[in-house]
Amino acid sequence: MKKCLYCQQRNAEQRDTCERCAMPLPASEAVTQARRLSRFQWFCLGLTLFCIAMFFWLPRSFY
Ligand SMILES: [Zn+2]
Repeated sequence: MKKCLYCQQRNAEQRDTCERCAMPLPASEAVTQARRLSRFQWFCLGLTLFCIAMFFWLPRSFY
């Protein structure tokens, strides 16, 4: 089931546009979840690389 973002109408999974208001429907939930997970993995990778860069860039002692 795909829910329309504009009128909350529930549409069949195969539909690309809303049954009631003909607005384009968002991608199915599974695709959205996969995209979100992929973005999160890239964020973690970027954060790790940033930490490694900081580890070598910052001085080892503060005395
Ligand atoms: Zn709609």
